[in-house]
Amino acid sequence: MEIEVPVVIVGAGPAGLATAACLNKLSIPNLVLERDDCHASLWRKRTYDRLKLHLAKNFCNLPHMPFPSDFPTFVPRIDFLRYLDNYVTHFKISIQYNRNVESAYLDDNDGKWRVVVKDTASNDAVEVYVSKFLVVASGENSEGYVPWVEGLEGFQGEYLHCSNYLNGRDMYAKNVLVVGCGNSGMEIAYDLSNWGANTSIVVRGPVHFFTKEMIYVGMTLLKYFKMESVDKLMLLMSKLKYGDMSQYGLVRPKEGPFVLKKKGGTTPTIDVGCVGRIKKGEIKVYPAISSIREGKTIEFEDGRDSEFDIIIFATGYNSTVLKWLKDYRELFNDDGMPKPGFPNHWKGENGLYCAGFSRRGLDGIAFDAQRIANDISMSTSTRGLPGGEANFACRKLLEN
Ligand SMILES: Cc1cc2nc3c(=O)[nH]c(=O)nc-3n(C[C@H](O)[C@H](O)[C@H](O)COP(=O)(O)OP(=O)(O)OC[C@H]3O[C@@H](n4cnc5c(N)ncnc54)[C@H](O)[C@@H]3O)c2cc1C
Repeated sequence: MEIEVPVVIVGAGPAGLATAACLNKLSIPNLVLERDDCHASLWRKRTYDRLKLHLAKNFCNLPHMPFPSDFPTFVPRIDFLRYLDNYVTHFKISIQYNRNVESAYLDDNDGKWRVVVKDTASNDAVEVYVSKFLVVASGENSEGYVPWVEGLEGFQGEYLHCSNYLNGRDMYAKNVLVVGCGNSGMEIAYDLSNWGANTSIVVRGPVHFFTKEMIYVGMTLLKYFKMESVDKLMLLMSKLKYGDMSQYGLVRPKEGPFVLKKKGGTTPTIDVGCVGRIKKGEIKVYPAISSIREGKTIEFEDGRDSEFDIIIFATGYNSTVLKWLKDYRELFNDDGMPKPGFPNHWKGENGLYCAGFSRRGLDGIAFDAQRIANDISMSTSTRGLPGGEANFACRKLLEN
């Protein structure tokens, strides 16, 4: 059976929800297909307990609904979920849960997208959605990435990706190695140390580290001053607060944090207390792993070795678009990220769009969602019902 909907959106994370809300505001019927049994599954099921939005709330609003004024500047995970739940209700967003999109291709016969879905709550029953417009919102962080490490398969301890880490409750007094010094790695190391684990962290290369307040100041100043000038101030603030950390294994990159980020280099890390613990010697820093020997011994590139019970890989994520999107070449590279750079990354050919792939977090998502909805609005006449009422029509279509 084929179900026809003007716009199909794959993924009910912030990007899919924001796009659906913008379309609803323009009375364009749309349907969100989500593989999980809830929306915002990354935030609900694949992040750690103590997580707060890393950026201040005024840089994280989704379109048409600012965060409530009584929310703190740095919104905790639970409040962010509350905000997203309200967002779904307020904009009457239509989501089909437990729908794993298996493939999507452009049918040359009628120029429409065929989106093939398995309903995982109904014995994998197959459904086919037909749409003129297809929005890929399946996320840059769709799947945890664990790098190849020599000897990992024989490791006698436990290893996991950070998307499976909630807290360190069961890790008291264990020797835990966190691999990666991005936001997740540094925060998880700090959390483990709070839970009484003997914590170490692998820092492979140079990294910028700032408090979230410094990042807030920097992002605000970027509106008024040149990036290079703001970078200088950022470095000054970081050096005043932390001093030279190279003796502890934390070396700053030569280029400033915002310039580096713009060039696609490492994102500056937001320190929530890990750097202080490193300084006190409570968290040890190691360089890259060279191999894992039999048992639990890990060797590092500087020749040191040590035994660990648990390894937590905070080594990033992969986009999984190419696993299901067949006609992708116009828009996506072979790594599942868009070919065109920001700000032209969101639009492909034949009604194909992507939201949430600019590596600019929630601010980037808001940008994409509004542009996609406006673009679809200009090239469609499927309109007429106000706001979420348009989706009522979609739901009725599904029920029949
Ligand atoms: C730990 C962490 C902290 C972050 N903190 C911030 C922050 O403070 N500020 C900020 O601006 N950004 C932050 N980000 C970055 C970014 O804003 C978030 O990752 C955000 O959730 C991205 O939204 P998204 O909708 O693009 O992707 P996701 O949230 O990953 O949502 C994608 C959805 O698509 C679904 N999906 C995937 N494949 C399929 C398929 N084949 N079929 C059906 N459904 C599918 C997934 O189940 C998921 O629900 C953070 C990211 C992480 C990982």
